[in-house]
Amino acid sequence: MQQYDAVIIGAGPAGGVCARELSATGRKTLLVERAKDFSANDFSSGGSTLEALKIFDLPKTVVGAFCKQIRIASSDDQHLWQSDKPVAIVFSFQKLRTFLADETVKNGSELRLGWSYQGHEKKNGITVVALKKAGTRVIEYFETKILVDATGSDRKVLSGGPPRGQEAIVGRGIEFLLEVPEAVYRTHADCLSFFIGQLWMPQGYAWIFPMEHFRLKVGVGRNYPDEQVVPYEKAFRFYLDRLMSKELLTDKIKILDQHGKTLSYTAHQRDLYWKKNIIAIGDAVSTVNPLTFEGIRHAMMSGRIAAAQVNALLDNKISHFRYYKSEMRRVSGLKWIVSEQLTRKIYREADDRKVNLMLVALKSFSLEDLLDLVFYYRLKSALKFYFAYTRALVQSVLKKKT
Ligand SMILES: Cc1cc2nc3c(=O)[nH]c(=O)nc-3n(C[C@H](O)[C@H](O)[C@H](O)COP(=O)(O)OP(=O)(O)OC[C@H]3O[C@@H](n4cnc5c(N)ncnc54)[C@H](O)[C@@H]3O)c2cc1C
Repeated sequence: MQQYDAVIIGAGPAGGVCARELSATGRKTLLVERAKDFSANDFSSGGSTLEALKIFDLPKTVVGAFCKQIRIASSDDQHLWQSDKPVAIVFSFQKLRTFLADETVKNGSELRLGWSYQGHEKKNGITVVALKKAGTRVIEYFETKILVDATGSDRKVLSGGPPRGQEAIVGRGIEFLLEVPEAVYRTHADCLSFFIGQLWMPQGYAWIFPMEHFRLKVGVGRNYPDEQVVPYEKAFRFYLDRLMSKELLTDKIKILDQHGKTLSYTAHQRDLYWKKNIIAIGDAVSTVNPLTFEGIRHAMMSGRIAAAQVNALLDNKISHFRYYKSEMRRVSGLKWIVSEQLTRKIYREADDRKVNLMLVALKSFSLEDLLDLVFYYRLKSALKFYFAYTRALVQSVLKKKT
């Protein structure tokens, strides 16, 4: 039986960064991914900040597009924020994960694509992990000192499944990767566009993100998909078709890929973070932000924090992962709780006029303020939004009275 310092289950952004950083420090690491290749589960839109490249030392080749503009449209209005330099990026999710896995292999560790985690047990104090090869009955066993749950929202290893009931904020998204005519592409090439309000997606939002080679990612996502908090009539596809017909204004569209996923976030991030020699990272511990469902950067950060903890444990500098949770809370913590509150307010708003007023409130934001709100979840910007929105509400009531 082969022996490893760490077996990491799941080669998403969290598992990829964790494996890359552990292997770079000489740890014998096995990165396991159930998909046969990274194009098979290329589900994420990939919107992120420019600085993510620097923080995680990533090459430009993992980027699908650099964006200088952010546009938000409501059901009857829109606003554009622009800069002369890129302020955001769209990752190629496939290229990002391929890069991280390749780096892990270059560092001397191992990658197994098309293998899925079946279970683990402790034998004579040693953790033995069972992996099954996709499409076969072949099961192999591996010994490891540390087991990392990087299975994302599925939480397959440590928690045995996603949270349910009151605990969960669930988001479901579907997206098309499109090839569009050059003129249509040029209109969207530089811009992250978000669409809020009942026209676009009740209880959620829609988006258009650019990629390279005349490609666009066009998607819709809904929070609380199994509850009809705000009335909606049709399936996701209805809103996706509406977005394409109203925004792309062409029928010369080629659908290159269609994907989607349901993510579960545990309210107040009350997930199980570790148990003995098992540590969970990324969406397996609700690193995805509940307001925007942006999760790549945060998953990567948890992979990095966990790798440092694993190294400390293997070096006998610590004897448990007790401080991992507090390290993680330092990064998200209060910001994620504020985001949860905003989520409940924004996505549960049934009155579309009020959603429009949210855009009115945002119009008073500079680009920097907006980035602070949607990418950095700063309390100051959340409060600024709250006051601007309240002012817009009062003004609209006064206007109606006069
Ligand atoms: C439609 C949609 C759009 C999104 N858009 C954005 C965006 O624009 N920007 C952004 O930052 N975030 C976005 N996100 C969220 C982001 O993709 C996730 O938060 C992020 O991928 C989490 O990374 P992770 O590594 O924790 O988990 P994942 O990326 O989910 O990776 C987990 C991996 O584990 C593997 N796995 C699961 N079970 C097993 C098993 N039993 N054995 C082996 N492998 C297993 C899975 O195949 C998967 O590859 C979006 C999500 C969705 C659904």
